[in-house]
Amino acid sequence: MTEPTTTVPTLAELERRAASRRAQPGYGHDALISCDRLVRIFTLDGVEVQALQGLDLLVREGELMALVGASGSGKSTLMNILAGLDEPTAGAAKVAGRDLMAMNARDRLRYRQEVVGFVWQQTARNLLPYLTAAQNVVLPMRLRGGRHARRAGAERALELLELLSVAECRGRRPQEMSGGQQQRVAIAVALANEPRVLLADEPTGELDSATAEQIFAAFRTANEQLGTTVVIVTHDQAVAQEVRRTVAIRDGRTSTEVLRRTEVDAATGQEALVAREYAMLDRAGRLQLPADYTQALDMRDRVLLELEPDHIGIWPDRPEDTGSAENAPAADT
Ligand code: ADP
Ligand code: MG
Repeated sequence: MTEPTTTVPTLAELERRAASRRAQPGYGHDALISCDRLVRIFTLDGVEVQALQGLDLLVREGELMALVGASGSGKSTLMNILAGLDEPTAGAAKVAGRDLMAMNARDRLRYRQEVVGFVWQQTARNLLPYLTAAQNVVLPMRLRGGRHARRAGAERALELLELLSVAECRGRRPQEMSGGQQQRVAIAVALANEPRVLLADEPTGELDSATAEQIFAAFRTANEQLGTTVVIVTHDQAVAQEVRRTVAIRDGRTSTEVLRRTEVDAATGQEALVAREYAMLDRAGRLQLPADYTQALDMRDRVLLELEPDHIGIWPDRPEDTGSAENAPAADT
């Protein structure tokens, strides 16, 4: 290891740094959805299950993003909290300025009627079987009430069904529609009260891939035409690859995320979609390295770190190497 070359900052420098830290706005101040160290513990027959273990997530207004993760990683638990159906054990969650920890039953009901819309995997859970598509879409507007709910509601219901290309289903009951049509009507129901956020928990899980593609197109339409922020939990790799941002949840925490951007190749001038993988760095500085990276280099227990001007190097800890952490002289403290 090289000799440390950094000089000790002056008191004035330290004070300047502290002042600029204080001036920085708080975590997630400009996000539409912000989850801050969310914890959800379920107790079943005296056994505790930590479904969320300090999950951090920020989603900006207007995003269309996917959440992926193995079964049991906590995706549905997170969605139920964001939908206002469940409460976290600890941590903080805010959606559109509302503090999900501080809502009473009445706030919660209004939140579900006005701020979020949701679409579930089970097509049957999204629609009332004895109502037509149009009636299903009108229902949330009726329940919310307000002026002109009745007339304007019927009109808006048709507009939404048209936007999602299921206008022909307006007079049909759910059992008279295909699974894909039902899910598109379900999206119209979720959009009925103009929510800021649309949440969907594996909405294409029960459908074949061609139909899943149509459902996904409907979410994209909602996002692009209505400006609704959309969060979709999915197992479907095709869906995950079509959004600009995919966040992976592992063991109740956000672990890595992939951002896709169109970049112009400097050499050829061609536009290409470039995917980059990021890891989440929490405010304690903890970082989870992707398992395939650590396995490829046989990294375990302890790694060697080096600060470079523009990045941090991480090496496997090999005690037999000269200059490894094991043999290096202790850094002065
Ligand atoms: P995912 O949707 O990613 O498959 P879930 O959020 O459904 O994961 O579940 C995360 C963990 O929490 C799992 O271990 C699951 O068994 C547990 N869990 C979820 N809901 C409950 C509940 N109501 N009671 C007890 N344990 C639950
Ligand atoms: Mg689930």
